[in-house]
Amino acid sequence: DTIDVTKLVNSIIDRYELVSDSEKLAFIRNIEDQTTFATVDRDKLIQVLDNIFSNAVKYSPEGGEIRISLEESEKHFSISVSDEGVGIPEESLPQVFDRFYRVDKARSRKLGGTGLGLAIAKQIILAHGGSISVDSEWNVGTTIMLTLPYSAEKVVV
Ligand code: ATP
Ligand code: MG
Repeated sequence: DTIDVTKLVNSIIDRYELVSDSEKLAFIRNIEDQTTFATVDRDKLIQVLDNIFSNAVKYSPEGGEIRISLEESEKHFSISVSDEGVGIPEESLPQVFDRFYRVDKARSRKLGGTGLGLAIAKQIILAHGGSISVDSEWNVGTTIMLTLPYSAEKVVV
């Protein structure tokens, strides 16, 4: 499908805002009022964003801020999600997109999950001709950024 990614991202943030306590977590949008056309499988993109958001929420401290930005360039657009959470140690960064990989088994077990979310996200983004990367600092926070190509035909269904 050709979808409007700006609309989709905003609706997912709305949903996370509704279910999370606003005193504990703040979502800050750096998203212009625009239409961002992309030819992607809507359900799969929701799955990718859901995992990135749920990770940000899961690893954020009370009072943390989660910043979401959507930027357009000539042929691509990118979405980044930054949190002020526990972060990922540098030596673990190359592995976070591996299947079943989880930093600190004990901590991760307590927080739940299987370690598949980012592996699936990467697979989906690559299948759509995009890329995904992580930038993180231990005890400071994490940023996940993904880039996808625009749609050639600008017709939203
Ligand atoms: P699942 O997504 O299958 O429920 P998961 O969230 O543990 O489980 P991934 O989403 O693949 O798995 O993430 C892999 C690991 O990377 C996590 O277990 C966690 O250690 C680390 N990680 C991912 N996102 C963040 C984040 N925003 N802050 C800190 N650590 C993170
Ligand atoms: Mg996850």
